Amino acid sequence: MTVSATSGAIDLGGTKIEARLFDAGLNSLQTRRIDTPTTSYAAMMEALCAQIDWLLEQSGQADLPVGICVPGVIDPESGIAFAANVPITGENPGQTLAHRYGREFPLENDCMALALSEANGGAGEGYSSVVGLIMGTGVGAGFALSGSIPMRHGGIAVEIGHIGMPADILARHGLPVSPCGCGRKGCMERYVAGSGLGRLSEWLTGTAVAGPEVVSRAAAGDARMAMVLDVWTELAVECLLTLQLTLAPQCIVIGGGVSRMPGLVERLQAALAVTDFGALRLPQLRIAEHGDSSGARGMALLAVARRKMQKDI
Ligand SMILES: [Zn+2]
Repeated sequence: MTVSATSGAIDLGGTKIEARLFDAGLNSLQTRRIDTPTTSYAAMMEALCAQIDWLLEQSGQADLPVGICVPGVIDPESGIAFAANVPITGENPGQTLAHRYGREFPLENDCMALALSEANGGAGEGYSSVVGLIMGTGVGAGFALSGSIPMRHGGIAVEIGHIGMPADILARHGLPVSPCGCGRKGCMERYVAGSGLGRLSEWLTGTAVAGPEVVSRAAAGDARMAMVLDVWTELAVECLLTLQLTLAPQCIVIGGGVSRMPGLVERLQAALAVTDFGALRLPQLRIAEHGDSSGARGMALLAVARRKMQKDI
């Protein structure tokens, strides 16, 4: 039994369901990862419940506060979910869990959970408005205001990855209006996600080079890969500028695979500084402090806060 666990959280992803136990200081104590069954909602929920059971057993507390983040949208009024990579669309996971356990489990979008985590004891600590930008396989963002997640109509996160890249930039570099998995074309994530860097190398040089290799080759003096990285930077800055023009956060915390790129913050901050946009006050850029555990950490935080709120009532 874990001696000091005071909360738990589950990060439900398209490939893994990760359960974590946290102590009172939100330090990660124990982790268990299992594959995400994607065949049906029932199979996925069975696996999710196995992870919840593990958290309750390990902590020795049947009423342990446990929050769950999902890669999608949960309507705050109906509880109905919508997600592209896990089979929960049209289902009500909160209700399914309430029937099974006789209690509530807070559910939130994973990008919102990251923003919440980083705004509280993370890279966004001390800023009253924080965007958490995940640049991984895809691109998505969340927003924390005064250390909390603001109410969003329909429960939607900050879907920056599915806003179109400005046509003039694509035209300037001869880039295609690339079809996205969401059904639209020219979405930002097609160009600025980790996989976008690989796509850019193919479009710009005719040779497909994986994202991390573009970065290492550019660092080793490969002029063509340095050019690919420069174009990627220009596109990524457009993504940051769009966040600034719509949400005006004081700080943008970057998570996901791309955040491991050496010198990323310096590269983006320098490129952002020279954007000619009048007297626009630019955000501070930071790398997520809690890395891959940040989403779960945000959910543990939320679960504890909800429990406290219930007790106060
Ligand atoms: Zn899209």
